[in-house]
Amino acid sequence: MTQPARVTLPATAHEPAVAVPAIGQGTWYMGEGPASRADEIRALQLGMDLGMTLIDTAEMYADGGAEKVVGQALAGRRDEAFLVSKVYPWNAGRDSAIAACEATLERLGTDHLDLYLLHWPGGIPLDETLEAFERLREDGKIRRFGVSNFDVDDMEGLYGRPGGDSCAINQVLYHLGSRGIEHALRPWHRQHGMPLMGYCPLARAGRLQQDPLTNEVVNTLAAEQGLTPAQLMLAWAIRPVDGLRDLIALPKAVHLEHVRDNAAVLQATLDDQAVDRLEAEFPAPFAKEPLDVV
Ligand code: NDP
Repeated sequence: MTQPARVTLPATAHEPAVAVPAIGQGTWYMGEGPASRADEIRALQLGMDLGMTLIDTAEMYADGGAEKVVGQALAGRRDEAFLVSKVYPWNAGRDSAIAACEATLERLGTDHLDLYLLHWPGGIPLDETLEAFERLREDGKIRRFGVSNFDVDDMEGLYGRPGGDSCAINQVLYHLGSRGIEHALRPWHRQHGMPLMGYCPLARAGRLQQDPLTNEVVNTLAAEQGLTPAQLMLAWAIRPVDGLRDLIALPKAVHLEHVRDNAAVLQATLDDQAVDRLEAEFPAPFAKEPLDVV
């Protein structure tokens, strides 16, 4: 059996480098109500059993409800997980970020996050957010911090501030039908040795010119490779680029067959020809485009 695909987050001044699965589990729309709770917990636990131990959540999702579901899924096995949550931009102030993180930890039933992200750029000065992230780190409440929905200019602005260059990751929209980050943002990350996380890897949300899951080339290629179209999309999203795998895809799945399919991609490989055919069908833009978001 091949080694499961992993991405390494570089060492920081305070943490050693850590290898995480290249496919994690998203939780947007989990925790919306009691009817689906048991299914959601089971899905996350199965995903962990199958190696998708990175879980991505946010205070935004179901108003904290998703964090509670994750907390239940992690009961008795917190140490197996690499846990990521996000703070609303308007809660990312010097003191408000501390309070938001503590509420998040309470809902998750844990004393620390492995990674805490600013959900998107907002009005609160970044210096305040960085100060709060550093305090949270000193207090052992977060191990690393990162950002989400930051474009190149935002990353440059962050990097220019005290402590900004300790940012561990940027979580952005990325799927076969939305390859805008490849033009400038992904090269910026490569240059700075900072991995990316790709959300909506199955293109189930947001604006779409065409749905890759129903595209004929995707379906034909998937059949040739012994994969489902969704598996092919995930395998493409986490493909090594120039020999380096540095993007973590975050599918969200509640159906157990989806969870199994997604986890199986950790062992899948795509040959260069398949990648070329997919990329010819879904070309990257020729010029810089505004960052795609949902
Ligand atoms: P996805 O692209 O992961 O699509 C999720 C949908 O795809 C669900 O309907 C799910 O079904 C279905 N699905 C999952 N696996 C498969 C499969 N193998 N075959 C067929 N269908 C499948 O979209 P999301 O919008 O949920 O994004 C993923 C995660 O990224 C979020 O949950 C969240 O954690 C994060 N995110 C972050 C954002 C940010 O601003 N930082 C913004 C948006 C998302 P089912 O659940 O029924 O199994």
